[in-house]
Amino acid sequence: MAEDKSASSKRNSAPKLDWIDITIPLGKDIPVLPSGTSESPVPSPRVERFFDVDRGDKVTMSRIEINSHDGTHIDAPLHFFYRGISIDEMPLDTTIGPARVIEIKDTESIKPEELEPYNIQPGERILFKTKNSPRVYQTKEFTGDYVYLSTEAARFLAEKKVCVVGLDYLTIGSFKSPENVKDTHETLLGNGVYVIEGLNLSGVKAGEYELICLPLRIEKGDAGPARAILRPL
Ligand SMILES: [Zn+2]
Repeated sequence: MAEDKSASSKRNSAPKLDWIDITIPLGKDIPVLPSGTSESPVPSPRVERFFDVDRGDKVTMSRIEINSHDGTHIDAPLHFFYRGISIDEMPLDTTIGPARVIEIKDTESIKPEELEPYNIQPGERILFKTKNSPRVYQTKEFTGDYVYLSTEAARFLAEKKVCVVGLDYLTIGSFKSPENVKDTHETLLGNGVYVIEGLNLSGVKAGEYELICLPLRIEKGDAGPARAILRPL
């Protein structure tokens, strides 16, 4: 039998699953948080092929350079707290299991008044789909006026003792308010609530899902880039 050299012919046909990928693909053209100064801006993610079969090398290999908070990622308490729990210490079931996607109508921020009717329970995994999806991911530029989590809503969720909170942009706090960024993170991470940032919920409707989202096991990491997927329950 003649050998077929095309790579695609070697793939086994994978079973079709109804998983929805809610991860931002890591690459140079994704928006990043502009937390650096203008003299030393935060570099975009870089995936550089230093060996490439297409260029005649024996193998393809890449060097990957990213900020720990680029793209879809999970924040660990260490991000804000002295000797806080690091991302490699996060219990694995924090981000694996049933999750609820709540659609937020407010175009400015997530507020407790809008969350009140949802009867949020202790231990829930809550992902917020806001007006950010897909708008904020259609450009490489950072979007300043994204829907963020209000300090009051962070307190509300911490009091409800949810397990994890996810949002469809790169940080849960308002970039325009350092106080809100500090308060939302400290309130959640300080009360054992992990935070998933940089979700793309464009293709997802409000409802009940199974979530799988695991951060890279970065030793003493303040955050971990993650692959996040949902399947309707
Ligand atoms: Zn983060």
